[in-house]
Amino acid sequence: MGVINEHFNRLTANYLFAEIANRVSAYKEANKGCDLISMGIGDVTRPLPPVVVEAIQSAAQEMGDPVTFRGYGPYEGYGFLREAIARYYQDKLGVEVNTSEIFVASGAKDDLGAILDLFRQGVTAIIPDPVYPAYLDVSAITGNDVIYIDGNESNGFLPGPPDMRADLVYLCSPNNPTGAVYTRQGLKEWVNYANRCGAIILFDAAYESFVSDPGLPRSILSIPGARTCAIELCSFSKTAGFTGVRCGYTVIPMELERQGSNIGGLWNRRLAIKYNGASYIVQKAAEAVLSDEGYRQIRVNTESYLANAKEIAKTMDELGIQYTGGDNSPYIWFRCPGNMGSWQVFDMLLAEANVVCTPGAGFGRNGEGWVRLSAFGGQETTREAMRRVKRVLERQG
Ligand code: PLP
Repeated sequence: MGVINEHFNRLTANYLFAEIANRVSAYKEANKGCDLISMGIGDVTRPLPPVVVEAIQSAAQEMGDPVTFRGYGPYEGYGFLREAIARYYQDKLGVEVNTSEIFVASGAKDDLGAILDLFRQGVTAIIPDPVYPAYLDVSAITGNDVIYIDGNESNGFLPGPPDMRADLVYLCSPNNPTGAVYTRQGLKEWVNYANRCGAIILFDAAYESFVSDPGLPRSILSIPGARTCAIELCSFSKTAGFTGVRCGYTVIPMELERQGSNIGGLWNRRLAIKYNGASYIVQKAAEAVLSDEGYRQIRVNTESYLANAKEIAKTMDELGIQYTGGDNSPYIWFRCPGNMGSWQVFDMLLAEANVVCTPGAGFGRNGEGWVRLSAFGGQETTREAMRRVKRVLERQG
């Protein structure tokens, strides 16, 4: 019996981003001065909008003044931000959420893992494949049993509920890596499933602001029945360029209970034990994002990324290559031409187009034969990258 959590041994060695970095630096070394374009990263590139910068500066001034200085804030977040998020749900998503159901976080990834503190070790968790790797790894180190469900061409990478029951379900829509977005009907099937078998859906809405089709759901809480089975986790990272600022939120409906325990109540308790809240300065920045002017400014960034996604999708259409995403998401997930493997396409695009992509195989078994391109670059860079990709893929027939 050692001291180490033995579940760390269950982690699969996922060298995806390390392997990409190795191959890219080897290529650069051998081809000095080459002009590489990265479409592999899932990080934003556009800077913070001016209102957010002003809010950060003015909050920093407050912290430097003895009259307005603040120490520890509420674990669950300041009222001003929780109220702004509740208004955002009402005005932009058409969903009624009570301020007390909103818990401010330092990011969605933090809470996607931390929320597992509420559940017994060894519970069963449904995880789609391909997947954002964090769900899988956090389930592994917690000691949970994973039930994989297949995302593939036949279900448009939007798998439905399986025949067996589970305790937890991780869903992400719009999806990373596939860019696929569940319809209301697709989410309804999951909500019905969860209410039938008592599962709790952990719904990752990190990319909700990219949904421009009004018929598609941006929140699982817009689906009838979700309030008794779903927790929504969201983030300012991709919506407002906060990947380096760090702020997100988790919404736990009051009706969500299991075995007589209110889940929001448990989460509040857990926050008080392990968390001292997001920083005041960051929460003021997030509040500014949700002001009328802030929202207008962040939409410029989102629209620019969406225009890139359209450009990538247009290239795939011209090439007759099958893909998901691109319309309501910053990712395009395309099928490798001519039965090539994802790493083969990676190497080919690196060497022949000087474009860096992400091989789908790094996101799970079902990702083999697919490639992810990210729309988080500059507009001219994206256009140039697609000109090069088109030239190379055209040759593959
Ligand atoms: N969820 C998904 C699906 C993501 O792709 C990412 C980041 O790439 C995150 C969550 C992380 O969000 P945050 O920066 O708020 O931790």
